[in-house]
Amino acid sequence: MAFDSLSQKLQNVFKNLRSKGRLTEDDVKAALKEVKMALLEADVNFKVVKQFTKAVQERAIGSDVMNGLNPGQMVIKIVNEEMVKLMGSETTEIALRPGQQITVIMMVGLQGAGKTTTTAKIAGKLKQKGKKPLLAACDVYRPAAIEQLKINGEKQEVEVFSMGDKNKPVNIAKAAVEHAAKNGNQVVILDTAGRLHVDEDMMDELIEIKENVDVAQTILVVDAMTGQDAVNVAGTFDEKIGIDGVVLTKLDGDTRGGAALSIRAVTGKPILYVGMGEKLSDLEQFYPDRMASRILGMGDVLTLIEKAQSEIDIDEEKAKDMQQRLKKADFTFDDYLLSMEQMKKMGGLGNILGMLPGLGGGKMPDIDEGEAEKNMARTTAIIYSMTKKERSNPSLLNPSRKHRIAKGAGVDISEVNRLVKQFEQAKKMMKQMPGLMGGRGRGGKMG
Ligand code: GDP
Repeated sequence: MAFDSLSQKLQNVFKNLRSKGRLTEDDVKAALKEVKMALLEADVNFKVVKQFTKAVQERAIGSDVMNGLNPGQMVIKIVNEEMVKLMGSETTEIALRPGQQITVIMMVGLQGAGKTTTTAKIAGKLKQKGKKPLLAACDVYRPAAIEQLKINGEKQEVEVFSMGDKNKPVNIAKAAVEHAAKNGNQVVILDTAGRLHVDEDMMDELIEIKENVDVAQTILVVDAMTGQDAVNVAGTFDEKIGIDGVVLTKLDGDTRGGAALSIRAVTGKPILYVGMGEKLSDLEQFYPDRMASRILGMGDVLTLIEKAQSEIDIDEEKAKDMQQRLKKADFTFDDYLLSMEQMKKMGGLGNILGMLPGLGGGKMPDIDEGEAEKNMARTTAIIYSMTKKERSNPSLLNPSRKHRIAKGAGVDISEVNRLVKQFEQAKKMMKQMPGLMGGRGRGGKMG
């Protein structure tokens, strides 16, 4: 998958940050140096990398640490936000003209970028929106291109307009629009000819079409695997003929991801779709926010962080109190109750697990959420059956007290025993990992 290596490197940087309770300015700078290296290795445009790390650094060093987030998480949040910004923030759709007006879309790009395939893929998306698109075969230099478009059109069940290879592309385009008007097609997609490299003849031909046909959207198709070349090609096309958006193909084979991260920032033009395979269904709408969390390898962990923030704020006092005791390792059953309550407020165990990287998307074969929640309810009942003294001093729990508690909670004594054992284990674990729970820089400045 794209971004694997970048993702891995960034996650390592973040892991180091997270393991620190407080961050100094130097910690942030050192981490960002690694982020910079990782982005450059992913073939992100040099200027973009510089601007990006500068923006992150300014925010990370200048900002207060938010409630509920430790400094490491705060840096991740900023990196994520800046990355979303880099890719354009909003999802951009192909702009179609309203009603029955014909929208002419001109597909442009170098040979082999995936133009013909993408033309058919987009036709499929438009059909899903209830449109009746017409594909026009304007690549007259490669007879195979016309044939390929026809085959793909047939697969998508959309009409392909062709006049063979003896006519000028501009005339084919004009005739296609006339045909569409008679035939009730609201969208005409022109599949134009590419060359191996940017050349004058190709540009002139595209300019001629634009001057003679009312082109509403010019969409450039570039191959993600060509990295910064794709970005340069986008810049040149935009300068010479003007483009409205980009489709980035072969992202499924691109292990670096530099083009995806640079195109918007360098050209100012949005990525509309990404090609994720050779099949005609392998075209995905481009969501900058989802792409960023994919790159950061965090599933929807940011949503989780946001939730934690808002929930923890409510119980700030209680939580502070609990932390104090955690640090001293005198964690009690009352704290246990409190943490379960907070978990419930955050949407339950299943919800939290679903948002964790690697566990999202229904990949939780070993965890039965319903069962886990039932267990939580029984645990709560057991703790409520303890006296106040027992809750704050679990060492009081002798067999006769346990018996009484089991009866009160309506469970078997073995469950009480198990809970007490788990509780002791959790306590031990927390003692061994002060970094895990301590050191949240609530409201404090970094450094
Ligand atoms: P054109 O010359 O720009 O019209 O390019 P084509 O549409 O003929 O595509 C060139 C090759 O790239 C074909 O083998 C396509 O199947 C392949 N291709 C196009 N898009 C993608 C994609 O998103 N992923 C992958 N893996 N292959 C693609």
